[in-house]
Amino acid sequence: MGNPAEIPLYINGQGVAALTEETFENINPATGEVLARVHRGGKQDVDIAVAAAQAAFETWSRMPGIERGRVLLRAADIMRKNRDELAMLEVLDTGKPISETPYADVDSAIDALEYFGGLAADIKGEHLDLGEGAFAYTIREPLGVCAGIGAWNYPLQIATWKSAPALAAGNSMIFKPSELTPTNAMRLAEIYSEAGVPDGVFNVVHGFGKTGHHLACHPGIAKVSFTGSVPTGRKVLEDAAGTVKHVTMELGGKSPLIIFDDAQLYNAVSAAMNANFYSQGEVCSNGTRVFVHEAVYEEFIALLKIRTEAMVIGDPRESSTQVGAMINPDHAAKVMEYIRLGIEEGAYLVTGGEKVTVPGCEEGAFISPAVFSATQDDMRICREEIFGPVMSVLSFRDEDEVIARANETEFGLAAGVFTQNLSLAHRVVRKLKAGSCWINNYNLTPVGVPFGGSKQSGIGRENCAAALDHFTELKSVYVELGDVECDY
Ligand code: NAD
Repeated sequence: MGNPAEIPLYINGQGVAALTEETFENINPATGEVLARVHRGGKQDVDIAVAAAQAAFETWSRMPGIERGRVLLRAADIMRKNRDELAMLEVLDTGKPISETPYADVDSAIDALEYFGGLAADIKGEHLDLGEGAFAYTIREPLGVCAGIGAWNYPLQIATWKSAPALAAGNSMIFKPSELTPTNAMRLAEIYSEAGVPDGVFNVVHGFGKTGHHLACHPGIAKVSFTGSVPTGRKVLEDAAGTVKHVTMELGGKSPLIIFDDAQLYNAVSAAMNANFYSQGEVCSNGTRVFVHEAVYEEFIALLKIRTEAMVIGDPRESSTQVGAMINPDHAAKVMEYIRLGIEEGAYLVTGGEKVTVPGCEEGAFISPAVFSATQDDMRICREEIFGPVMSVLSFRDEDEVIARANETEFGLAAGVFTQNLSLAHRVVRKLKAGSCWINNYNLTPVGVPFGGSKQSGIGRENCAAALDHFTELKSVYVELGDVECDY
């Protein structure tokens, strides 16, 4: 597709114009260039997509799992062949550097296709022995038409993490990418079609919150899998409640990363940087509250400062770039406001937190990675999700204290622990209220490991065999082998 001048909706295996006859601009965050005009789907477009997905569900869901799996594996192969193109499209859409997107975006999507493609033949129920005269069995059935609604930070990954398990289980899907990053959901739709996914099984409807609202409310949709912020997640839950839909909620976080005094400090600094500055800090599971034991606090800050200041901020298309453009000027302004607030609240800005001009990308919003020390738990920079390259480093003295402070948040997406003491690591992890925890690393999400949030960070899990459970439901069948007992 290259850089498309126009991005239509994708319904029933082809690009179609939105009935709203309205479009909106897709902008390259780094350069301000208008990449495409995107068709905005309205209620009628959603109705048409639902009808197409319902019709396609009838055949797709009846196909043997191994055949559906084969199609997904073909999609993985096509994606691999187009890896460079997809990685660059993700750079142009999101502002993230090309040093990241082939791995964190395209390879992660390929992993999902291969993993769920491989599992598609293994979706099964159970035999339940009820003694001599009867038995029961369960059938794991697909739900029907599922809606996927995505955030802008990992567009291809989110679209694939949702659609691969949904399709493997026999569902059809309507995906609404974020209005800020519509490109690669379209490429994914084209790849699915090329791989042999029947028309109508995977559809893309573009638009803003209103379009997402139409999907979440639609009576023909059985499930909504949503990735985005907690406030939007609440609205989607309310809409989904109208027809009691299944939901998966992948929401925001303010995750703790705890570094004990025996940790390998170089590795701990590496993890803290990955956990805050990868993708310009626009990562849901980031460990933005870094608790460092007081005995190593000063040393940690000194090491972190040197390495953070060496990071290369630049044109996302350059292979040497490590920090790209923020998604748009509004979001950059929000991040800069938090940096101002942090200083006002009395935190000490160790480094970064400045707007940077990148030659050739003068229209982009670039922010140098910021580290705050002298932070307190109740400061807003330590309580609210900033979704930018802003790390708060907090000091702690003992285990119970740090666990209590780490858990003192409405979020519960992720957490990390650094120590060489294995008992301490496992003891602490068990007490942390978070869906995904890492010991001596951070933010790794291999496809076989469940990913998702606890508390207000989410409901359900992606990225594992259990994700198939969230895209299916059980039917129980009781089988009588004897006579029917009856007192009448
Ligand atoms: P957002 O909540 O603003 O938007 C997410 C999606 O919801 C977009 O497609 C948007 O158009 C749509 N939307 C907006 N209003 C809607 C409504 N009323 N009904 C239905 N859909 C609606 O989030 P964002 O700014 O795109 O992404 C950033 C947020 O996403 C952060 O909070 C981040 O933590 C979270 N996130 C979570 C995960 C995870 O896996 N837990 C992954 C990535 C991002």
